[in-house]
Amino acid sequence: MSPVLVTGGSGYLGVQLIVTLLRAGRPVRATMRSTAHEADLRAAVRRGGADGTGLECVVADLTADDGWPAAVAGCEEVHHVASPIPFAEPEDPDELIVPARDGTLRVLRAARDAGARRTVLTSSFAAVGYSPKPGSEFTEADWTDPDTPGLAPYPRSKAIAERAAWDLMEHDGGDTELVVVNPTFILGPALTPGLRSSALLVKAMLDGTMSAAPRRRFGVVDVRDVADLHLRAMAAPEAAGKRYLAVADGPALSFLEVAGILRRRLGPLAARVPTTEVPGDDPPRPVIHNDRARTELNWRPRAAETTIVQTAEQLRDAGLLEAAP
Ligand code: NAP
Repeated sequence: MSPVLVTGGSGYLGVQLIVTLLRAGRPVRATMRSTAHEADLRAAVRRGGADGTGLECVVADLTADDGWPAAVAGCEEVHHVASPIPFAEPEDPDELIVPARDGTLRVLRAARDAGARRTVLTSSFAAVGYSPKPGSEFTEADWTDPDTPGLAPYPRSKAIAERAAWDLMEHDGGDTELVVVNPTFILGPALTPGLRSSALLVKAMLDGTMSAAPRRRFGVVDVRDVADLHLRAMAAPEAAGKRYLAVADGPALSFLEVAGILRRRLGPLAARVPTTEVPGDDPPRPVIHNDRARTELNWRPRAAETTIVQTAEQLRDAGLLEAAP
């Protein structure tokens, strides 16, 4: 059986996807920036209850050509997950845009040249719904305009990278297929011990660092459900050439509503979560549709509340809330 390539094998979603594939009996080749991450990935694979003998780790960086042809060689299926997520806004947006865009093109060209059947790319709701539009309903037909005034570097990087991917497929894609998954805010238990970007917000709520809740509303999706959607997007013939929004059922949530769920479900653990919002006007509550993934791919995401509660429980169980003031 040919290995499945997963880029970003050191990341929150990448690790979950690798574990899901290994548990399904698929051999996996994972890319990472440095072999220093391999031991952590193998420990996460054990933690996730998967057998690591089918896992091979190779080194490739989104900013360089080296390693990509060898990484893709012999793989029919490619999951391109890697992309830089900032802990703080970079001074130069190109720190995110260049690796996101050029790395995506490197992976897709290598997949095309190696004769891979299909690449499933992790894009983002940031490439769908970050430009103002009348109404607040979002489907896969919506696009973030990268030139939207005030758009932050990260959503710009995701919008630019996804557009570059579709452009390449249209003009020079050869026989390889592309499917795109567009997750909203990803939460859920992490298999790696460190803190990654999304869980940091839940930690900030629980440890009191977030004293007032920002006035933002966002869709939530579970990391395990995004991994599952990646597999479904890879398997379904009719998915070729399409995007799939990944979001739990139900309304988008505000930070204050997330805090309310934590307080109601976790009692003393949530004693420090914010009880007020920062002053300001209420932004619109986006309505983000997941009908395409549900109907075409039979995808059934967990409830956002389950995901939020299990994220907090995992932070507690991993000892990541102990430094709370
Ligand atoms: P993550 O844990 O930060 O993972 C990002 C991965 O990309 C890491 O493996 C990272 O490697 C790798 N990467 C970054 N720059 C790289 C480079 N120059 N060369 C090679 N690899 C590089 O974040 P995540 O949440 O798992 O994100 C996975 C994907 O989901 C990304 O495409 C992200 O944009 C997308 N997404 C995330 C969210 C969310 O809420 N987290 C929502 C929507 C979409 P290192 O470990 O070496 O840094």
